[in-house]
Amino acid sequence: MKIAVLPGDGIGVEIVAEALKVLRALDLKFEMETAPVGGAAYEQTGHPLPESTLNLAKQADAILFGAVGDWKYDSLERQFRPEQAILGLRKHLGLFANFRPAICYEQLVGASSLKPELIAGLDILIVRELTGDIYFGQPRGRRIASDGAFAGAEEAFDTMRYTRPEIERIAHVAFQAARKRSKKVTSVDKANVLETFQFWKDVVTQVHQDYPDVELEHMYVDNAAMQLVRAPKKFDVVVTGNMFGDILSDEASMLTGSIGMLPSASLNSKNQGLYEPSHGSAPDIAGKGVANPLATILSAAMMLRFSLNQEEAAQRIERAVQNVLSQGLRTPDIWSEGTKQVGTAQMGDAVVKAL
Ligand code: NAD
Repeated sequence: MKIAVLPGDGIGVEIVAEALKVLRALDLKFEMETAPVGGAAYEQTGHPLPESTLNLAKQADAILFGAVGDWKYDSLERQFRPEQAILGLRKHLGLFANFRPAICYEQLVGASSLKPELIAGLDILIVRELTGDIYFGQPRGRRIASDGAFAGAEEAFDTMRYTRPEIERIAHVAFQAARKRSKKVTSVDKANVLETFQFWKDVVTQVHQDYPDVELEHMYVDNAAMQLVRAPKKFDVVVTGNMFGDILSDEASMLTGSIGMLPSASLNSKNQGLYEPSHGSAPDIAGKGVANPLATILSAAMMLRFSLNQEEAAQRIERAVQNVLSQGLRTPDIWSEGTKQVGTAQMGDAVVKAL
């Protein structure tokens, strides 16, 4: 089981260290190698995703990723910005399926901004297509508008596009995931306005014929954004395109209280995957030892489940996390009256102890 460890920037370094403690505490043998990525790699090599890091990632069964980015890189040319490393890894490894579970732990019901009765027991899975859509579609760029009311003015444009195979494979992933859960998929689109998403809806409907045991509903993205805060427990598996998924998965993450609790997995067709917390590098708290490492620890559990075939070990980690929450241990982002505040390393140590 070969793991490429890419801690990245900011709190990435601190939280990945805790996930490694947890992995090492399991009675399993891993081959782990660490490499720089993002701003850290740019400082060392002049590129956020150096060839050596990319090769390590390609050869690994799984990548454990921290986070990248810092405001100090905002003025760099786009190709050198830390975030390009993630886009590069997704593209080179074909990581087209992004899984983001949003689970509200019973112990953290009070940390959500929604009423407890709306989110207690929440367990939804957002399946986001990750390598297509307007984020990657060509052509894109800036030019002088040749028509319309503002002909002759400067304009910018991107292209939203999906091919049939791209939609089919993500739809299969969502229906198969739903079979292991409560057998319901909500496909989110904007078919009323966008040609791309009318096509999305048509293809998802066709793929659904292979899964008669799974219920399929279609929902416009604006309604989905509203329903997620109105009655989130009505959802089970949500499948959508790259841009809508980007936005809805962040919205869903806040239902659960803190972005510091949410893991994610991005998989290719060979189940090779990149596992990372849903949050970024949090430059505002980096180096202070207060970041919540649980999203990264739970990402390591997803890695064991999806890429390394170690379901039992994955469940052990998830139970250990529940256990420390039940003990009342909380990093500042999830702290509330009556619980005990701990730092990043103490939280990691507590999970190891609970294992
Ligand atoms: P962020 O997710 O880094 O932080 C948002 C807020 O959540 C901050 O207040 C932060 O302190 C808090 N937070 C995040 N993770 C936390 C944790 N584990 N524990 C406690 N609090 C936590 O988003 P941002 O501030 O918009 O972006 C900061 C940098 O991260 C930017 O450079 C951005 O481009 C980058 N980013 C990277 C990724 C990634 O690596 N996948 C994702 C999102 C943003």
